[in-house]
Amino acid sequence: MALDTPAQSWLALDPQEAAKQVALGSQIMSTLGEDLTLGHVSVRHACGNLISIKRKGISLAEVGPDDVIVVDLNNPDGLKVPGMHLEALIHTEIYRARPEVGAVIHSHPVYSTALSSTNAKLEYLTHDSVLFHEGIGRYTDSAHLIMTPEQGQRVAHALGERRAVLLQNHGVVFVGEDIRWAILSAITLERSLKLQIYAGQIGKLNPIPLAEVKKIFPIKYQDKFLTEYWDRWVRELGEHKESQGTRENQ
Ligand SMILES: [Zn+2]
Repeated sequence: MALDTPAQSWLALDPQEAAKQVALGSQIMSTLGEDLTLGHVSVRHACGNLISIKRKGISLAEVGPDDVIVVDLNNPDGLKVPGMHLEALIHTEIYRARPEVGAVIHSHPVYSTALSSTNAKLEYLTHDSVLFHEGIGRYTDSAHLIMTPEQGQRVAHALGERRAVLLQNHGVVFVGEDIRWAILSAITLERSLKLQIYAGQIGKLNPIPLAEVKKIFPIKYQDKFLTEYWDRWVRELGEHKESQGTRENQ
């Protein structure tokens, strides 16, 4: 198993808490760049068999706690409700395949999506890339949308035990022990790839040996740091909204 034991205290105890996590997680994801009303964030509830997912029709930045749908993983028709994203199966099939996963994000952020359209790989160049010490998966069946249970299961298979899987010529799926870890994966993969592009423009790449990567990972990425990161992302959202408000009032 690649992920740590789920941080039980961070899995939502009720639908209200789950909706708040999805809303904030979606808004944080929007800071990586919006893609119309596409991209979706979900979290698993502490009970294990319920998830909460963003509804379609609004952008990630617009998601509030009322824009979240609860789905029972034990109900085969759970996704057949109004407002469900076409590719919600990505979420349900990963939750079924990975009981330790507490949050799933599918989106099309620029750097990860660019990588998905190449045969290049993520290089271990900085501490950011170390989060992916087990590599990132690649779903290469086709560039189509993921809309059937079989396709969802194939994505879950391509993800394996890792934290992210690139969908060929399409985008990426991030998972985590909880919403904090899934967001960290998204922000950190984008940052790793940006640095990889810059590094390649500066000179010959000098990757960290894998043995050293494995040693850095447990020190650099500890569960106890994650709440501090989450709190900072939430403060950033507040600062962003404040600056927007100031601009609108000028
Ligand atoms: Zn997609």
